[in-house]
Amino acid sequence: MAPREFDFSCRCGDHGPHGLEFARGLEVIHCEKCSTWSHVSCQRFGRAAGLPKSTPFYCDRCVRMELPIPSAPKAGLSFICIIHKFSLKIHRVGMGALAKYGKYHYPVRLLLRLPRRQGWRVRFWRGCAYPPDVPPPDPEKAVTEDDLVDSLYGNQAARRRIRLGKYTHAHEIPVEEDLLANFQDQPFSPRLDAILSPYFDVLFAIFSKSFEQNLHIPSVQYVLASKKKDQTIPYAGDLSVQEQAEIMNWFCNMIPYAKDHLTDWVGSPAHAHAITIVIAALNEKELRLHRDFPSQESEMAQTTAMWKWAWQLQQHRGRIPAVDVDRECLGLLEQWMFESSDDAGLAGDEQWGLDAGHHQDRWVPYKGLPAAWSSYRSGFEDNAKYEHGPDFSDEGLSEKEAPAPAPKPAPDRPRPRPKRKAKE
Ligand SMILES: [Zn+2]
Ligand SMILES: [Zn+2]
Repeated sequence: MAPREFDFSCRCGDHGPHGLEFARGLEVIHCEKCSTWSHVSCQRFGRAAGLPKSTPFYCDRCVRMELPIPSAPKAGLSFICIIHKFSLKIHRVGMGALAKYGKYHYPVRLLLRLPRRQGWRVRFWRGCAYPPDVPPPDPEKAVTEDDLVDSLYGNQAARRRIRLGKYTHAHEIPVEEDLLANFQDQPFSPRLDAILSPYFDVLFAIFSKSFEQNLHIPSVQYVLASKKKDQTIPYAGDLSVQEQAEIMNWFCNMIPYAKDHLTDWVGSPAHAHAITIVIAALNEKELRLHRDFPSQESEMAQTTAMWKWAWQLQQHRGRIPAVDVDRECLGLLEQWMFESSDDAGLAGDEQWGLDAGHHQDRWVPYKGLPAAWSSYRSGFEDNAKYEHGPDFSDEGLSEKEAPAPAPKPAPDRPRPRPKRKAKE
């Protein structure tokens, strides 16, 4: 495609009129419904990968209903992949995989298949905890097909050969709503402090409900014009959830009494004005170029004009909430990696690495996994299958240290047990 401007609006949060800038060298796909372009690799479950040109595509935002979670690729398929080593059809752009890096395999999201068998461009999961002496992988460096495996669903033998690198599970990462609810854990940046602290007096005055001197403030005008008592203001424009959480943290810690009266200011004109100030600061260059900008007038008049425009952005440029596509992708990969069910078979019985060696730092990946991934397994009580194979390596341990006993199933992973029949 000739490089030209197009509307880009991907669910990962990349958006703008200069599409190619946001494509970041990845494949893009056009939605028939909303006419915007998205990354192929950001669509759920890799569903946009390899679509025939004639198939109309509807982006994840336009596909209103929840897409059903696809079932795991079955052992048979993985087996086919092993025999046809070079037709690994299971790897699809947008899917998760495990990539070998050093001794261990770490989760990645597949971004782009490179031509001429050069391998894959991938994004390593941001929650990977590499050993201290191992630098993080170069994001530009391709991962070869040989160093990649999928979830190996149902493939016990292959799983036993793979040692996992330590990483934070997808379900341990806070989702956006948690970020706002736990804003006290999101310390504000020095930059945010520099933007807000010059306006401490005006923010404290509005917080204290001194509206008379502040009738030029857009959020004050908004609540005064509203007929509703205690009108809250839901607007945050283009700000990310992280930025919003940091603003709340600043407000809470810097405005006297705010900490003890959360319900008094969240969504209040003072809080909304803090957001206006930040939006004005982030867009200052653009706003100053506005042909109506009062550049000859007082500083106060300039600031008021900027806040007025920033308020428009705050109200009308509703941000399309970005999806944490990396977390979503890892969540599905992990569900397939760790599912314990009759479908997953023996491979689902905590088999990773048992013929290879300990996971990084003797990590136990099965602790605290969602209970929903584990259903009753017939014959589960047979502990023999947790034993290490003859090639299990204890390297890295001191010689005096006794070889580790075969790991028992992680204690805090709830397992349904067969119901005992009451004795007659
Ligand atoms: Zn994207
Ligand atoms: Zn669309």
